[in-house]
Amino acid sequence: MKLTIIGCSGSFPGPDSPSSCYLLEAEGFRMLLDFGNGALGALQRHIGLYDVDAICLSHLHADHCLDMCPYHVVRTYSPGGPLPKVPVHGPAGTRKRLNAAYAMPEEPALDTAFDFVGLAPGMFEVGPFEVTAALMNHPVETYGFRVSYGGRSVVYSGDTGESAELVKLAAGADVLLCEASLLDRPGLPTDLHLNGRQAAEHAAKADVETLVLTHLVPWNDRDQVLEDASRGGFGGRMELARSGARYDLG
Ligand SMILES: [Zn+2]
Ligand SMILES: [Zn+2]
Repeated sequence: MKLTIIGCSGSFPGPDSPSSCYLLEAEGFRMLLDFGNGALGALQRHIGLYDVDAICLSHLHADHCLDMCPYHVVRTYSPGGPLPKVPVHGPAGTRKRLNAAYAMPEEPALDTAFDFVGLAPGMFEVGPFEVTAALMNHPVETYGFRVSYGGRSVVYSGDTGESAELVKLAAGADVLLCEASLLDRPGLPTDLHLNGRQAAEHAAKADVETLVLTHLVPWNDRDQVLEDASRGGFGGRMELARSGARYDLG
């Protein structure tokens, strides 16, 4: 299984990264976790324009799903004719939300490109992957994902505040892509996002091998995020996410 970080910028794109999007590949099958704004451009550096086989959306905030709209154009109007529909696993209301974002709320336009499947906590199969979805701690219906293949696992937090479910989902994972949207300062909002220290605390409790701090908001000092994380009691490998970074999980 190979993981490529397409976009890791939190809440809005930055100069060096689109919003959230992660590519997982195994047996020639390609699945995206989230498809945030700007991701479709960077994705083409890594796979062909038409090569997406499945998509899982953690939640429907703009920075996690808006490039579904241009990708609908790619699959529906490609010069070679329409392409097969891509299964899209998303929270309740995904179809309506994306049709509205595309400005066609009355007609289910995006159905020409996508097969929408509702998410619920639990396990399901997508191509060669076993995917486990768990509800996270964020103001809208939001899922974290554990993707397993060949005995290895990648876990993605989506957006979340502190969450025992995330610790459970990530138990013993090879890679935890954990959001670290905030700097560790007094008076932070709760049940919304994590800071680097909290991300590292979750990684320590889950005993993961590698922690990748992601959903990095461009107005934050990246070094500060890493420094915050160093105070989270996590002893494994730890790094900041970077658009284009690849992880080969054997
Ligand atoms: Zn977000
Ligand atoms: Zn969000």
